[in-house]
This record gives sequence, C-alpha cells and structure tokens, in this order.
Amino acid sequence: MFAERFRSHHDAEGSLEVLLGKPPGGHLGRLLAMTSWSAVEKKLGESPRGLPRGVYIHVPYCDRICSFCNLNRKERSGADLDAYAAYIAGELKAFGAYPYIREQPFNTVYFGGGTPTVLSTDQLALIMDALHRHIPLAGDCEITVETTQHNLGVKKAATLADMGVNRFSVGIQTFSDRGRKVLGRTFGGEKALEELYALRAAFNGVLGIDIIYSYPDQSLEELKRDAEICVSSGIDSVSFYSLMIHKGSALARSIERGETRFIRNLEWDRERHHLFYKTLGGAGFNLLELSKLARPGRDPYRYIHIQYENGDLLPIGSGAGGRLAGFGIYSMAPERRFVSPANKRHERYYRMLGEFQFGLYDPPGMGLAPGAEKAVVEKLNELGGLGFLSPVPRGSAWALTPDGIFWGNNIAVEVLKAAIHATKKEKTVYA
Ligand code: SF4
Repeated sequence: MFAERFRSHHDAEGSLEVLLGKPPGGHLGRLLAMTSWSAVEKKLGESPRGLPRGVYIHVPYCDRICSFCNLNRKERSGADLDAYAAYIAGELKAFGAYPYIREQPFNTVYFGGGTPTVLSTDQLALIMDALHRHIPLAGDCEITVETTQHNLGVKKAATLADMGVNRFSVGIQTFSDRGRKVLGRTFGGEKALEELYALRAAFNGVLGIDIIYSYPDQSLEELKRDAEICVSSGIDSVSFYSLMIHKGSALARSIERGETRFIRNLEWDRERHHLFYKTLGGAGFNLLELSKLARPGRDPYRYIHIQYENGDLLPIGSGAGGRLAGFGIYSMAPERRFVSPANKRHERYYRMLGEFQFGLYDPPGMGLAPGAEKAVVEKLNELGGLGFLSPVPRGSAWALTPDGIFWGNNIAVEVLKAAIHATKKEKTVYA
C-alpha cells in the first residue's frame, strides 16, 4: 500500500505540513505571524495555564561526529564549554524569575543534544544547581540525560544521580564490532557491553538505550544478538530505529563514493524490525511509542508525553525548540530567539500525530474537528482490513499490529489525511 516507509515521526511531520498547506499568505504570512520576544515576556508575567510542563536543555556538542548523524550538533573541539554551561545556568535563572515559570512545578527535564555529557562534572553541576535553585521541580520530576558511553562512566553517572538525574538515555546503536565501525561509534562491542553492565549495576533509575537496525549488511544474527542483549542486560527501555541515510552525512558520502555497500529493500528492513520487536516482545517488553519498547511500568517517559500532548516545554540552550504560554519558540543562539504564536489548527493535528505515536487510535478521544469522525472510522476500518490495525476488545479503539507498527508513521499520515480532508473548510486560528 505504501511505496516508501516513513522511518520517523519527523518524516510524518513533513507530510502533515504539506497536508495542512501553507499558512495564510505563504512564506510572508509565516514571517508576519512571527512575533517579538516582548509578547512572550508579557505572558510570562502572568500565571501559568496549568498545562503539564517540562524543560528541554540542549547541549549541541559531541566529542566526535557519528557517520549517520544529522542532529543539531557540532564537534566540541575549540568550544568554550565553561561559557556554554554558564550561559545555560544564566538562562535558567532568567526564566525562573517569571511568574509563569515560578508558580507551577515542572514534571520533567530533558538534557538532549549533541551529547550533554561532553560537559564536565563541574559544568553539569553548575547547570544542575541553577536548575534546582531557579526552576520549581515536582517532587517526582523525571530528569533525563542523553549520553554516549565514553563520556559517562559509572563515577560521573553516580554524581549526576546525586544531582537528581533519574533517567539515562544511552546511545549505543549496536554491540556488533563491524556495525559500530560502520556507524562511527567509539569503543568496540565488548567494551560497550561491559560499560552497560557496569552502569546497570550502579544506577537504580530508568536506563534506556538506542539501537539502530538495518545498517549496511547487518546480518540477522547481529540483530538478534543486539536484541538479546537488550533483554539480558536489565535495561528498562530501548529505542530502535531503522538506519536513516541523511544527505551530507559521512555515511551518505561513503555510500555515494561506493566505499560502503548499502542495499536495502522494504522486506529486508521489515524482517529486521519484526525480529527485534518479536524478541523483546517475547521477553515482556511493551510498545511505548512507535520506535520504543519498555518493560512494563519501568519507563514513564514523561518528557515525550508532554512533547506530544502540546504541554509547555521551556527551551534552554542554543538550538533548543519548545512551546511556552501559547508561543512556539526556537533559540538559535544566546539572545537570538524566533517566536511565533501557536497555530491552533496545526497544534490540533500535531497533537494527534503525537498521540498516534503510542500505537492506539480511538476516534472519540482524538479531539477531531466536527464532522471528521465518520471519515476517520472508515479509514481505520480500511487499515484494519489490510492487517495494520486490530480492534481493541470492548471499546472504540484500534491498536497497531506488528506490521502496523512497522508502517506506523505512514498510517498516522493516512488517518490525518482522512481527518483533514473531511474538514477542508477549517480556518487557521492563531492563539
Ligand atoms: S553522539 Fe549522538 S548527537 Fe553526537 S554525532 Fe553521534 S549520534 Fe549524533
């Protein structure tokens, strides 16, 4: 049914943008819809709106650049990390002075990147101190740090845990030596495994890892071993992504030059997806979102819920994006932020796309525009007939089948298409 697979929700977001059409007035309209920081400041002077809320802190540096990566990051060499940590701490202090921030606790804090642990323990301590001092955190606030293995280590992890970090998301990608070489990872597979065991033994909080499947020439044995390690190593959750070849990445260039052989078709990709999913599912892992599996009750992952459900997300740091007090905010650099008022129509569909990531479709609870439910139910029935969804007993909801999970972002776009086409006359309303 689908010619091309959307491998991430970013692909689906791109399609959603096309479906929603250009904002009124096209590109000029988009620019005119942008607003000044003083409009945000005015709202920040008011009381919060009671939405669930999180802080996103971006550290855009890595020790070295992985061959497949196109994230917002650069190599750390030459960067003044002391100055960057001080800038983050200053931002936390400045935002903490506003009533909108001060008057309601935050449920989650996420350090993403890049690699936040390129910062030294002292630099991280400076940021953590500012966080605890200036931002009200809920008693059970989830604090996640994304990390690679070579700049974490058990000692640094323990220090971070003392500072309140209760969730690590560790980029490992594979335990295969050959695969790690292709992906440009530091360490061989055995060292990666050793480090993971040591971290698991020392850290009681939530431990999640990232795995990439369908990398060049990956054998089923290599994949099965990665899946079995996920089961036996005692981790709580795993994000599993089919390798994406991003234009301009080192890997893309190597494939173009013919130095790396990469032949992938959908069946090859599907076989690897299903093997990974089946191995972890058989060991009791559940679907947490389309590309994430978790042991039951072990990883609430509040950050992603707040992000997908359009909660408030305070963006801190160069390259951080978020949403606050009815404004979309993107921080380019210190003192340089782009702000636009939230577009209510777009937010409704982005929220739906976010909720579809959890693998469940329940039309009465989707927040559909009037008149769209019939078209969506018809679409779900059609997709059910094709084997992508199955009805959940005693209710109106549908759950994705393993094939549906594989095609999950394509299915989300199909359902959104039905919802949007059924309400073509809907107007764009800015908050
Ligand atoms: S460590 Fe992570 S963010 Fe940095 S280059 Fe590798 S994949 Fe990208």
